[in-house]
Amino acid sequence: MKLAVYGKGGIGKSTISCNLSIALARRGQKVLQIGCDPKHDSTFTLTSFLIPTIIDTLQAKDYHYEDVWPEDVIYRGHAGVHCVEAGGPPAGAGCGGYVVGETVKLLKELNAFYEYDIILFDVLGDVVCGGFAAPLNYADYCLIVTDNGFDALFAANRIVASVREKARSHRLRLAGLIGNRTLQRDLIDKYVEHCPMPVLEVLPLIEDIRISRVKGQTIFELAESNSELNDVCDFYLNIADQLLSNPEGVVPTELLDGELFSLLSDFYLNTTTTEKVQDDFLMI
Ligand code: ADP
Ligand code: MG
Repeated sequence: MKLAVYGKGGIGKSTISCNLSIALARRGQKVLQIGCDPKHDSTFTLTSFLIPTIIDTLQAKDYHYEDVWPEDVIYRGHAGVHCVEAGGPPAGAGCGGYVVGETVKLLKELNAFYEYDIILFDVLGDVVCGGFAAPLNYADYCLIVTDNGFDALFAANRIVASVREKARSHRLRLAGLIGNRTLQRDLIDKYVEHCPMPVLEVLPLIEDIRISRVKGQTIFELAESNSELNDVCDFYLNIADQLLSNPEGVVPTELLDGELFSLLSDFYLNTTTTEKVQDDFLMI
């Protein structure tokens, strides 16, 4: 099964990807996580260091694919999750989407692409140009991470449009939304009422998740010495279990920008100030 995780920049895609990869590995799956953000920090909490990127490796070998070995680009992370970072073009030059294509090409050359039960693409934020939509060409399911705010839902709606488009040419489904860093979900619910799709999970803002990133460890790794974190792991295990049940998902139809603006802003203007507090802090 191939998964592609999308969402606004900084919303928590990589955090969710790493913990979801481990959750899937815990369920017996052989998992490869491919970071497709030029930031190349997708797999950091799995490996605890910034692994060399595919594009740096290819450059060092003058793009001689035959000189690249799996161990040059595929690194073993926590819980046996395998990790790849696609990397990016030099800042301000080139196309990052091209890098994703090269990554898949190289993994196919290395006979690695079809070796895994799960390949999870953790993709650059809300820029869904042709190149960054490339993982959707391989994916069975798209997952969209959002909070309960306008900007992330606006980005989500644009990703929905890409899924709708790509689903015309192959069997791609939107598995659903994952709410992150919010206790509130009223705007999320309002959005899915008008643009129907499942909400797989809503995670609050959890200080230990922020700390896990700083420590370069996933929440699952931290939970090994702090059983109180098992409840946090359950959020990710729940998402993994839903995906492993091969959900039907949806081929969504995005809202027009104007519709979305009026839907969310009307709703926002009609709610009270206390209801507007979006990022409730949950200390565990
Ligand atoms: P993205 O990959 O979408 O750019 P990241 O996964 O890197 O975002 O997350 C951005 C920041 O938010 C990180 O510092 C991460 O630790 C933090 N974060 C993500 N999810 C949560 C959460 N549920 N609670 C607290 N902090 C979170
Ligand atoms: Mg990221």
